[in-house]
Amino acid sequence: MEIHKPAHVVLLSSPGLGHLIPFIELGNRFALHHNLKVTVIAVTSETSAAETQLIKSATKPNLINIIQLPSQDISHLIKPDAAVVTRLCVMMREAKPAIRTSLSNMTPQPSVFIVDIFGTESLPIAKDFNLLNYVFVASHAWFLSLVIYTPVLDKQIEGQYVEQQEELKIPGCRSVRPEEVVDPMLDRNDMQYEEYLGVGNGIPKSDGVLINTWEELQHSDLQALRDEDLLGGILNKIPVYGIGPIARQPVSETSQETELVLQWLDKQPSESVIYVSFGSGGTMSFEQMTELAWALELSEQRFIWVVRAPTEVAADAAFLSTGFTSNSDDNNEVVANYLPEGFLSRTHNVGILVLEWAPQEAILRHPSIGGFLSHCGWNSTIESLTNGVPMIAWPLYAEQRMNATLLAEEMGVAVRPKVLPLKKVVDREEIASMVREIMVVDQNAKGNPIRERVKEIKNSAEKALLEGGSSRVAMSEVLLTAKDHCRACKRKNRR
Ligand code: UDP
Repeated sequence: MEIHKPAHVVLLSSPGLGHLIPFIELGNRFALHHNLKVTVIAVTSETSAAETQLIKSATKPNLINIIQLPSQDISHLIKPDAAVVTRLCVMMREAKPAIRTSLSNMTPQPSVFIVDIFGTESLPIAKDFNLLNYVFVASHAWFLSLVIYTPVLDKQIEGQYVEQQEELKIPGCRSVRPEEVVDPMLDRNDMQYEEYLGVGNGIPKSDGVLINTWEELQHSDLQALRDEDLLGGILNKIPVYGIGPIARQPVSETSQETELVLQWLDKQPSESVIYVSFGSGGTMSFEQMTELAWALELSEQRFIWVVRAPTEVAADAAFLSTGFTSNSDDNNEVVANYLPEGFLSRTHNVGILVLEWAPQEAILRHPSIGGFLSHCGWNSTIESLTNGVPMIAWPLYAEQRMNATLLAEEMGVAVRPKVLPLKKVVDREEIASMVREIMVVDQNAKGNPIRERVKEIKNSAEKALLEGGSSRVAMSEVLLTAKDHCRACKRKNRR
């Protein structure tokens, strides 16, 4: 019996597949588990065909409605080389009139509005419509702590964060090393730092925060966010809910390319293949790509590698523009141009390359996968943890350096290069040795400790989502609050 039932939930996601995917999955969860009407307002970037394609496939099961708002031309508002966070915040700001129009045209009138961290400037619009409003953090609790605490650090610390001698202390949470700060903190003079401070100041203005984590995974960080003597005071004591893991679910229709990858995986031994991918936007230099290719060969492990053309510009070069391309023979020839000579023929029995975009969720779920060399985007991380797959943590951008620390040092489910890949090329011997560390099970030892640990986390994730589990209970609390809010609004309207 569904008793906690607000009428209609609206979610607002910012551009980028790493944002849109968890919002669609959260929407699906509201619709499937709680039988609610759900609308996702998706602000999308003009250049990303992938976003449009994802929206098309996400509406097929007819669980949720999606309103796609193509982004406005913002070229007159930003410099041509503006960083990702600046672009995101400006796109979301410019979308505000269209968001207002969308909300006012909805039937039935929504009662809950959930925005992502780049959408907090739309919270006042929701207040005009009397909606209960939440922020959904599609990342983890330690990251949220840093975001909301940065306005305090901004007053305390002089000079660049990356040049500090001491770690950045956050009350009740693990300190952040200067070299692992999030991208917008790398340069305080860049416009994106100002925008990021705005994000930190915007989140506490909501009625509550939902985070893609769960109690058992990050209990002490969640408690710090609730404790008014620690970070709860900064958050204005609004409720903080761990509702994760929100992970990508299998799609009903699969493409021919997906079938080919899965058929290849079917022929490989259990947990014998390492999956190599850098998310929706990760790119690397030609030199680094060469070392990675040699390392995969040297490691003598089976692999699936999602390859993108190398670039010397920012590591998040493709974040707002990823497009799906097909794996035709022509494309294979193009790829061959930037891989070591003979790589394709030498490895064709042990590995496959997928161009640009792979069916990651289906790959990680496959029993033949035994490891994931990942850029540590939070969605990829969640997908790896929930499938019990250990990782090589290879952070590239955004909050991924923090994620890598969390995975390697706190959870013990990943190994990582000795130096941050951003600073220096990681050489083939080091990469090959990391690959062997997570893939090879020593017959004399009692299994592989990283593999054991990640399986424990997988189990705890499953428990959190069961009836009575921490995330299930948190979700019910959100809906109960929403129901009370609806009732109160109705009473007010009757008066
Ligand atoms: N993804 C995918 N195929 C790819 C690359 C990425 O399906 O080839 C999906 C992946 O499963 C995840 C999302 O895109 O759900 C990437 O989000 P993440 O937070 O890991 O990284 P971001 O792209 O935001 O840096």
